[in-house]
Amino acid sequence: MAKLISVVIPIFNEQQNISLIYKAIKEQFLYLKDKYDYEIIFVNDGSIDESQEKLFKLAEINKKVKIVCFSRNFGKEFATSAGLYNANGEAVIVIDADMQHPPEKIPELLFQWENGKKVVIGIRTKNKGEGLIKNLGSKVFYWIINIIAETKIRSGGTDFRLIDREVVNHFNQFTEKNRMTRGLIDWLGFEKAYVEFQANPRVYGKAGYSLVKLIKLAMSTFVANSLFPLKFAGYLGLIITFVSGFMGFIVLIEQHFLDDPWHLQFTGTAQLAILIIFFIGIVLSSLGLIALYVGNIHQEVLNRPLYIVSKKINFDEK
Ligand code: UDP
Ligand code: MG
Repeated sequence: MAKLISVVIPIFNEQQNISLIYKAIKEQFLYLKDKYDYEIIFVNDGSIDESQEKLFKLAEINKKVKIVCFSRNFGKEFATSAGLYNANGEAVIVIDADMQHPPEKIPELLFQWENGKKVVIGIRTKNKGEGLIKNLGSKVFYWIINIIAETKIRSGGTDFRLIDREVVNHFNQFTEKNRMTRGLIDWLGFEKAYVEFQANPRVYGKAGYSLVKLIKLAMSTFVANSLFPLKFAGYLGLIITFVSGFMGFIVLIEQHFLDDPWHLQFTGTAQLAILIIFFIGIVLSSLGLIALYVGNIHQEVLNRPLYIVSKKINFDEK
């Protein structure tokens, strides 16, 4: 019997890309139809263009197309989570709607999966049409996360990936709110394989992930995956205290005990100012970091649902 594969596609204002990605995926599964059956789960993440109408039309024509609609824009990480939660397949493939992730690579993902790999990750070798800042930012992000996080993440890894049912089931148990889906999947472990691809420029529309959103995601990923930032404040505090203490000691001796032989002529006010600025710096940086953690704890304690589903189409009643 053919194995069911779920394809999860988060959608935010992709009216022109929907039919493109749908056709491309259908085509791939046409070649694979002896071995695999498919379902496509579109998660409409609060689009404000014609995406929803487009999706409903597709769902009418093809019952393999399933749709989850959010009541507003919750972000791609949550849309992906909702897709994974609602998927029925023995494996789930997550892919962007804008054709930046090539559907032609789906057979390769499935091949690695059949070889026993539980997670097959698309590795982006080139990012055509992306700005220098995004590319550089992504390099810096991976460099830092691999230094400070407990789990290693291969750079260039994307959300374009295949995830085995077993891993999906574990993933569905995550309750944390500040999530980067692919980071959590990497955290879960399991045997991984990598498939390289070149990212094409987005076909229509513009990227919903602004630089600011990406930086926010990177920050919350750092905080969620590592205690290093908190410890760093501690180390910094220690170093500054030690250095300024040492300097204060030198100044004290030089100015007050030896009568300024080097003619540095530090005024008392200047000495005091340096000292105070140093300590204010320490206190502020520690506070800022603690605020990040407290913010995280706060969100977890609230324990809100991750997303609100307003409509579901073509799903069996559970
Ligand atoms: N997306 C989403 N919610 C958002 C932003 C984006 O579901 O708030 C979807 C979008 O429709 C696309 C995928 O996530 O399918 C990747 O988005 P985008 O191309 O904007 O990001 P990038 O390519 O820069 O990572
Ligand atoms: Mg994109």
